[in-house]
Amino acid sequence: MKKTVLVSGGAGFIGSHVTVELIEAGYDVIVADNMSNCDMTCFEGVKKITGKEDIPFFKIDFCKEEEVRKLFSDNKIDAVIHFAAFKAVGESVAKPVMYYKNNLNSFLNVLEAASAHGCHNVLFSSSATVYGEPDKVPVTENTPRKPATSPYGNTKQMCEDILQDTVKATKGTDGEIKGILLRYFNPIGAHPSALIGELPRGVPNNLVPFITQTAIGKRECLSIFGNDYPTPDGTCLRDYIDIVDLAKAHVFAVGRMLENKMKADCEIFNIGTGKPVSVLELVNSFERVNGLKLNYKFAPRRAGDVTAIWADPTLANKEMGWKAERSVDETLAAAWAWEKHLAGK
Ligand code: UDP
Repeated sequence: MKKTVLVSGGAGFIGSHVTVELIEAGYDVIVADNMSNCDMTCFEGVKKITGKEDIPFFKIDFCKEEEVRKLFSDNKIDAVIHFAAFKAVGESVAKPVMYYKNNLNSFLNVLEAASAHGCHNVLFSSSATVYGEPDKVPVTENTPRKPATSPYGNTKQMCEDILQDTVKATKGTDGEIKGILLRYFNPIGAHPSALIGELPRGVPNNLVPFITQTAIGKRECLSIFGNDYPTPDGTCLRDYIDIVDLAKAHVFAVGRMLENKMKADCEIFNIGTGKPVSVLELVNSFERVNGLKLNYKFAPRRAGDVTAIWADPTLANKEMGWKAERSVDETLAAAWAWEKHLAGK
């Protein structure tokens, strides 16, 4: 029998790509989203890519306990992937209560309802942000977490802990929960169809949407935050992971849960390429791959940025059988195709 996966926050950037990959892998998917940070563009794109017009969609506020309970009691859900959360670091510093309220309550409601309604598998979308400024790179899953530098980062750490505690507490009970934490590095790019991609509201915080919006003429100039870091070219190093590769990691993780292949009741995997790329290298690659010149300047460092972080993805490679496959060049071409698609070009 087909298994059903609930994707909370499924209309957003990562959620929509994950929905596509799950459907293509043969899962039934339920998408739920409160649409607070997206419109229906990506959900419509998902339907086009998969050719599936009848994907169940629920407009749900995950902070509302009754709505979440009803979703789980009305539907037989085998696994839930929880994305529904606010994600802007700077905004979280300005509005901590809003971030804690939203990101914690929504996850608590999902856990409670999953446990009460026979959904035993919970995958939480975590982030490399939990490592803070690491003492050593690349980071493995055993690299100690550092105190969070923003309320956003803190909500990721807290949700990781909440899931781990819940897994321990429910073991052997009817409401048993098994968990997987995927720690994403820097997801970028778009689906090769250019029908879904990142849709930031207002001025983008993240590098690649800022690059593509500058290239299309929506922004005047990209500021590269800091060129005096102790790195080869002075700009920060990150691990940019293609969004489709990242989405596929979820298919491996869900399969692992549903086929009882987990080696522990709560597992953690880094989802990255293992290759550090500097901001300047990324900008240069974008220009080369897409045959254009980008207007950029060097600007002061951005508060809270870590100098260098990239993944050791060995565990995900060996244990899950997942590996990042697409090159940064392919990914940057896809990001540009998506921006042009948005502009109707
Ligand atoms: N960055 C930049 N200009 C921008 C946005 C980001 O130079 O307009 C840099 C940022 O300082 C960091 C890297 O790009 O070194 C990735 O930033 P992003 O916000 O995309 O992800 P983060 O690593 O902060 O999660």
